[in-house]
Amino acid sequence: MDDSTSENKVSKQKKISWGRVIYGFQESTDPFTRRQLFFIKTFSVVGFLAASTLGLINLSERNYYVGIPDLLTGIVFIFNLFLFSLIKKMQLTKGIMLSNFGILLLVLLATGGTAHTGIYWFFIFPIAAFFLMGKEKGIIWNLFLYCAVTIVFLLGSLDYVSLAYSLTEIRQLFISLAVVSVLVYLYQSAIEDSEKEIEQEKVKDEALLVSIGEGMIALDNNGKVLIINKTAKELLQVNDRDVLGKSYTEVMTIQDLKGKVVPHTERPLVKALEHADASKGEFIFVRRDGTSLPIMIVATPVILDGRIIGAIGLFRDITEERELERAKSEFVALASHQLRTPISAIGWFAEMLLNGDSGHLTNEQKEQVRQISLSNQRMTELVTALLHVSQIELGTLEVKPESVDISKVSHKLITEALSKEDKKLTLEEHYEDSIRNIIVDPELMRLIFQNLFSNAIKYTPINGKIFVNILASQNEGNIDGVMIQVKDTGIGIPKKQKEKIFTKLFRADNAREIETDGTGIGLYLIRALIDQIDGKIWFESEEGKGTTFFVWLPKEGMKYQTK
Ligand code: ADP
Repeated sequence: MDDSTSENKVSKQKKISWGRVIYGFQESTDPFTRRQLFFIKTFSVVGFLAASTLGLINLSERNYYVGIPDLLTGIVFIFNLFLFSLIKKMQLTKGIMLSNFGILLLVLLATGGTAHTGIYWFFIFPIAAFFLMGKEKGIIWNLFLYCAVTIVFLLGSLDYVSLAYSLTEIRQLFISLAVVSVLVYLYQSAIEDSEKEIEQEKVKDEALLVSIGEGMIALDNNGKVLIINKTAKELLQVNDRDVLGKSYTEVMTIQDLKGKVVPHTERPLVKALEHADASKGEFIFVRRDGTSLPIMIVATPVILDGRIIGAIGLFRDITEERELERAKSEFVALASHQLRTPISAIGWFAEMLLNGDSGHLTNEQKEQVRQISLSNQRMTELVTALLHVSQIELGTLEVKPESVDISKVSHKLITEALSKEDKKLTLEEHYEDSIRNIIVDPELMRLIFQNLFSNAIKYTPINGKIFVNILASQNEGNIDGVMIQVKDTGIGIPKKQKEKIFTKLFRADNAREIETDGTGIGLYLIRALIDQIDGKIWFESEEGKGTTFFVWLPKEGMKYQTK
């Protein structure tokens, strides 16, 4: 308690400075109002300093007739400043300020000011009046001054008051003041026209931002929120005060679709800002009240003269799309599950026919049944893959890890797969001894191996070579996982299509040409599986030379996951 009060005192002491007393009250965010405030305050302070210094000089020279009005003028200026700080009413203060100034000018007509230079101050009046009151009200204030000067002029010519200036001097003042007023009026009107244009542009921009159906957030180069449009505020349930001028990553939290908070450097807008990477992705926005909103974000850097000056994020609510996706996945899961029973039945009956359980078959009939059986096997694989894909998408994939000798499994599956082919492929295997039993779901592990092996065989021409390596993977000298490498000397993956290799149903052009029989589901499935178990999969490939797929699994193995 004590600490905080003393801290407050220190900060208060620090804050009291002349700059703050004079310019402290500039809360307005509108730049025009801020300019006016600055003008009023500077005018008052400079007026005070100038008039009171002249007053003191005149008094020291015993020129009381000029010195006292000068001092009074100084007091009026400082009074004006404090009055403004007290009442904080712009319009009223501006009126008082101009009235004071006008009266002082009239006093100068009578006293003449220091060294008879009083009339020079008249030229400040049109500038102050037009700037503070705008071009229309400025005319009225100038007319007031002319009327007042005319009255004083008439009173002077009728000898009711004594004037420090001759009537010719006042006439000249009148004419030159009129010229200055017209010039300042023209200048002010040009400024107001361009301000109106800027205002209209601003309104147009705002209308445009509001009318974008998508949420929009613009960041400056420091990652602070510069603009947030209405849709964004509605979707994220925030208001300007919550976010404008604040650090984007501090005020907004996003999660990936699995619900993990996305690290700072992985956020699309941060990537756009720090590396000029345009990116998009699906995320979950966590609102302040804890509710979440699935969104699709497209982040783009804003680059000017080769420098990143900010980033723009457009996003939309994808709740409905996600529900639709879910409904589709549920349908596929249900359909593939139901299809398994009749497909198995076809398999059994084909087997029985081939075994001669229903009597002798001719060779031609046997070949036809074998074809049925082969197609049926492919259908089983496809339906199983579809079932797994939909289970992953629905989050209902079960993982039941147990200790598995993966080298043994790998060897068994690759030799099985090669035995079904007559491409004369050479196999080279290397299994590191330290990697034997790891904790994995045997069914999922089999799927991963089968897909990698069948691809390597499918996309490698006759007499090619296949290498299978299972090694301990090291990170900074410590074993952190298992590395599986499946290398072939096959057709490779075209450079242009590398990015799409793991997308659903994608098949590269060269693969389609040599092998019509493919689905484009295998790699999508195993990548989703490996992601699910916190592993990694990637590849290196050169078209026409070969491909190596790498699978990294964490040392701890797979974690148990149930529906
Ligand atoms: P499929 O093999 O049924 O077409 P996958 O999802 O297993 O589907 O593979 C997707 C695509 O990746 C393939 O169509 C092929 O273009 C490419 N691909 C996968 N493995 C290899 C490989 N070992 N060599 C060359 N291309 C490959």
